[in-house]
Amino acid sequence: MRKYDYLVVGAGFFGAVFAHEAQKRGCKCLVVERRNHIGGNAFTDTIKDIHVHQYGAHIFHTANKKIWDYVSMFASFNHYVNAPIANYKGELYNLPFNMNTFYQLWKVKTPEEARAKIEEQKQKYAHIKEPRNLEEQALVLGGEDVYEKLIKGYSEKQWGMKATEIPAFVIRRLPFRFTFDNNYFNDPYQGIPTGGYTLLFEKLLEGIEVVLNSDFLKEKEYYLPLASKIVYTGAIDAYFDYCYGALCYRSLEFKHNQMENVDNYQGNAVINYTDVQTPYTRIIEHKHFEFGSQPDTVVTYEYPAAWDQNNEPYYPVNNLENNTLYQQYKLLADKEHNVIFGGRLAEYTYYDMDKVVASALRYFDK
Ligand SMILES: Cc1cc2nc3c(=O)[nH]c(=O)nc-3n(C[C@H](O)[C@H](O)[C@H](O)COP(=O)(O)OP(=O)(O)OC[C@H]3O[C@@H](n4cnc5c(N)ncnc54)[C@H](O)[C@@H]3O)c2cc1C
Repeated sequence: MRKYDYLVVGAGFFGAVFAHEAQKRGCKCLVVERRNHIGGNAFTDTIKDIHVHQYGAHIFHTANKKIWDYVSMFASFNHYVNAPIANYKGELYNLPFNMNTFYQLWKVKTPEEARAKIEEQKQKYAHIKEPRNLEEQALVLGGEDVYEKLIKGYSEKQWGMKATEIPAFVIRRLPFRFTFDNNYFNDPYQGIPTGGYTLLFEKLLEGIEVVLNSDFLKEKEYYLPLASKIVYTGAIDAYFDYCYGALCYRSLEFKHNQMENVDNYQGNAVINYTDVQTPYTRIIEHKHFEFGSQPDTVVTYEYPAAWDQNNEPYYPVNNLENNTLYQQYKLLADKEHNVIFGGRLAEYTYYDMDKVVASALRYFDK
C-alpha cells in the first residue's frame, strides 16, 4: 500500500514549490532532503540575528510578474537592489559596467566620451576577426582596461584556468550601460525575503512531511515503495549511478566569519575581487541584504574550487562534452515514467530561482 502520492527528493525551490502545489491539489507528499535543512542552496541560517546566505548571495529577481506574485505569497520582499562593487588591487569600481565605472576607469563624464574611449580601446584588437578564447573575445568587445581590471582575474579564478584556455563563447557580449545605473539586474522585480529565505520555505512546506539528513539514493529500497511518483531534484548522473561517467561541475568553498562589535565591515552586500592574486572571488556582508542595524556582522568569503564527488556541485560546466553526456542521461530519464526530473541538478542547467519556480509550476499548468 503506497502511503504517498509523491516522494519529493530535495527541499530546494523545485522540490518545495512542487510539494506545495501537489498538496494544494489534495496529494500527499513526503519530502526527503539529505542536508540538515530545507531551502536547498537558497537556505539562510540566522547568526547574530543576521540572515546568512550559507551557499552564496541569493538575490531574487524576475521579469515574470506571475512568479513575483507567487513567491510574494510566502514572504514579503524588501527593496534590496543588487549593486556590487569590484575591488581591483584596492581600486574600487561600480558594477555592472556603467557610466560610474567608466568615470572611475578613465574620468569620462558623458556617454559620448565613454563610447569614444571604448572604441579607442577596442581599435587595438580590431584585427581579431574570430576570437579563439575568452581573452581575445573580451579584448575585442571591450578593450584592454575593462578586460585587465574587471574580467581577467575574476574569470580565471571562477573557471580555474587561464583566460586563454577558457572558450570564447562564455562571453557573447559585454553589457555596457551608458547611464549612471548600478542596478546589476535588468528585471523589474527584485528583492530579498524579509526574515530570510528559510522562512519562505517553511511557509511553502507547511503541513508537508519533511525528512532531513536522509539521502534518497542511499535508501532507495526503503523509499521507493512508499509513493506512486517521484520528483527527483538531485544530480541526474548520480541517479543512474554514473553509468556513463560523471558530469563536470565547478564547486565553491564558503568561509563564514562572524565579527563582534563591527557594525559595518565593507559598506555593501557584495564586493567582487577581480585580481587573480586574491584567492577568493567575493566577500558577502549579509546584513546589507536586509539593511540590518545589528551591532555585529557576518561576512562570507567565496572561493571557487575544483569539483569532485566529495564536494558540492554548484555550476554545471555546459561544454559540448558534458552536454552530450547529459543528453545520454536524459534519454534514460525519459524512460522513467513515474519520475519527474526537475531543478538545476536533475536538468544539469544553471537556473536562477525564478526559473526554477516557473519550471515547477509548469507541471500544474498541464
Ligand atoms: C553561488 C550561487 C549563487 C546564486 N545566486 C543566485 C541569485 O542571486 N539569484 C538567483 O535567482 N539564483 C541564484 N542562484 C541559483 C539558485 O541557487 C538556484 O536557482 C536554486 O537553488 C535551484 O533550486 P533547485 O531546487 O533546483 O536546487 P537546490 O537548491 O540545489 O535544491 C536541491 C536539493 O536537493 C537535495 N538533494 C540532492 N540529492 C539528494 C538526494 N540524493 N537525496 C536527498 N536530497 C538530495 C540537495 O541537498 C538540495 O538541497 C545561485 C546559485 C549559486 C550556486
